[in-house]
Amino acid sequence: MILMGPPGSGKGTQAAVLAWFQDLRHVSTGDMLRAAVASGSALGKRVEGIMAAGELVPDDVMMEIVKERLEELGEGWVLDGFPRTAEQVAGLVELLDGLGQEVGLVVDLQVPDEEIVRRLAGRVTCGDCGHTTSRDALDPDGGCPDCGGRTLHVRVDDAEETVRRRLDVYRATTGPVAEALGRRYPLRRVEGVGAPDAVAQRIASALEAADQA
Ligand code: ADP
Ligand code: ZN
Repeated sequence: MILMGPPGSGKGTQAAVLAWFQDLRHVSTGDMLRAAVASGSALGKRVEGIMAAGELVPDDVMMEIVKERLEELGEGWVLDGFPRTAEQVAGLVELLDGLGQEVGLVVDLQVPDEEIVRRLAGRVTCGDCGHTTSRDALDPDGGCPDCGGRTLHVRVDDAEETVRRRLDVYRATTGPVAEALGRRYPLRRVEGVGAPDAVAQRIASALEAADQA
């Protein structure tokens, strides 16, 4: 599966739910890049500034990372955050054809801009367990709802100006990617507004419909 959608559309949340219920491996290029930055590796040093500015990491770098991961994983994954450009679509199709793999479904989450800016402005990440949530969803005493952790931080690229830049990049470059994928693989647009459970239910229905087609 491939999960598409603007920043803040809930791709990461939904991909994690899907990975769990459908027994798929969650492949998040954003998480992989953030881990590289945190580890201080050569890759991390190369991409840190690009990510903080809300720009896209070069296609050749992304292809190398994804190729390595998908080759080691075998079948049964959900991709979150990739592909993001026409070049990445072409690279992915070539890679999967070479591996003899198909994409069962591409889900394109639909969320309006105002909702995205609102969501990202309130988003925090737990430094202890990595859970991402909104400030509204914290414990009454301000702890992480998953582990009670208190080292909550804001992603550097969730600063309001960077959010706007990420949205612009999305509209200009990544928006058309879902359509391009849809020419090769089954594609469903799914409403991304509402409770995470409700969205997950819509994605599950889309999967069922795709399986029957
Ligand atoms: P979001 O979808 O909320 O913007 P991600 O975690 O998917 O968050 O990505 C964070 C950042 O990582 C992006 O703004 C970009 O700099 C980089 N990135 C992730 N995936 C890709 C990709 N496929 N191509 C280029 N850059 C990427
Ligand atoms: Zn936590």
